[in-house]
Amino acid sequence: MSNEPQKYDVLIAGGSFVGLTLALALASAGRGALKIAVVDRTPLARARDRANDGRASALSAASTHLYQSLGIWQSVAKRAQPITGIDITESQMNALVRPTLLHFDGDLAGGEPAANMLENHVLRDALISKASETEGLTFLAPESVIDFDNHAHVVTARLEHGGNIEAALLVAADGRKSALRKRAGIKTIGWSYPQAGIVATLGLEKPHGGRAIQHFLPQGPFAILPLPENRVSLVWTEERARASEIVAMEDAEFLAEAKKRIGARFGALTLQGPRADFPLNMHLARAFVADRFALVGDAAHGVHPLAGQGLNIGLRDVAALAEVVIEAARLGLEPGSATVLQRYERWRRFDSAFSGLSMDALNRLFTNDNAPMRAIRSLGLGLVDRAPALKRFFVREAAGLTGTVPRLLKGETI
Ligand SMILES: Cc1cc2nc3c(=O)[nH]c(=O)nc-3n(C[C@H](O)[C@H](O)[C@H](O)COP(=O)(O)OP(=O)(O)OC[C@H]3O[C@@H](n4cnc5c(N)ncnc54)[C@H](O)[C@@H]3O)c2cc1C
Repeated sequence: MSNEPQKYDVLIAGGSFVGLTLALALASAGRGALKIAVVDRTPLARARDRANDGRASALSAASTHLYQSLGIWQSVAKRAQPITGIDITESQMNALVRPTLLHFDGDLAGGEPAANMLENHVLRDALISKASETEGLTFLAPESVIDFDNHAHVVTARLEHGGNIEAALLVAADGRKSALRKRAGIKTIGWSYPQAGIVATLGLEKPHGGRAIQHFLPQGPFAILPLPENRVSLVWTEERARASEIVAMEDAEFLAEAKKRIGARFGALTLQGPRADFPLNMHLARAFVADRFALVGDAAHGVHPLAGQGLNIGLRDVAALAEVVIEAARLGLEPGSATVLQRYERWRRFDSAFSGLSMDALNRLFTNDNAPMRAIRSLGLGLVDRAPALKRFFVREAAGLTGTVPRLLKGETI
């Protein structure tokens, strides 16, 4: 490789869900006017291997609109499962029945689902394929940004396998432990939960009907999320040491533990893929931008997965950053200019903080096993269940369609 740096308008470090979606949004909305590079340290064959990520994500209607406008949804829609309704229960572990205290219809006005379930490996595959055929977009993997320096009009990034990239803007989409966030001197606030999230895919004997179920148990939330072919994705919160024990169990013992929580309503359960546990924490970067530098996705914020919002919040960053960068480019401003980055930060930081703290409050409220608290919670859920306007508001909030919504999330072009 020559010593001359490769030149791009935007360099994105981290080519997972958020990084690749941002690259595609900038390439497509910019209609080829911007040169984009994405690097990811994971080799492509490993990134595409389902065994590497057995999770599924609840994609809000807003995120679905984004993928529709990028031409991704069309290739994954057949493998998505619309959520037709959400049931919320609260009970002790040994309860014989888990009565529904609160029910939400899954549709927005007009019949559109507020959220769709999609397996992570399906989405990742579609993003990688689209990136490889998109003009103006270069995807390098395995490759990492190991350091960077700011100069008057560019940032120079040093790559692990040799060579440099010069860009007007460096975006860190390198996940929760973002090394580039640290390198930029941006600190985070946050805390670890004593919990881990166990994730597994199960097959059911009886139909799930597209309903998502959230059982609030004393150990933490236990979500049963519908997938096509009458399968479900579990997101099962337990105290950390117990979660590792459960994941290491023999298949039959694991299924018996799952059945204690799910109950008998779905008949026999079968395991349908890998299982894993993820330590849970909440963090928020103290700033989302620095000189010619922006954070997106989990590099900027991480939330408790109890409402399945982490990726949706990251995709909101994507749509907001793409909108401010493209609008600025049309006015002749550079993507890394301070005006552009401040507009992005003002748009996204408060909203991300609010989402993270709301999930945290819900988790604390529902993992408190004190008897008077349980009674107040049940009463509260029952009251919300009798308030249709409030329920409609919650469904629109979960769909990502409240507040100042970026154009791509409304299904509009930039
Ligand atoms: C149990 C669980 C369930 C969840 N369920 C949902 C859900 O239902 N809905 C939802 O919206 N969200 C959900 N989430 C959250 C969601 O998975 C994350 O928010 C999302 O994966 C974040 O994507 P990202 O692209 O920001 O980061 P990541 O997916 O963490 O990707 C970071 C990428 O950066 C690369 N990288 C790191 N350092 C470098 C470097 N220096 N140079 C180059 N590349 C680098 C890595 O290889 C990786 O590919 C869940 C999370 C958990 C733990």
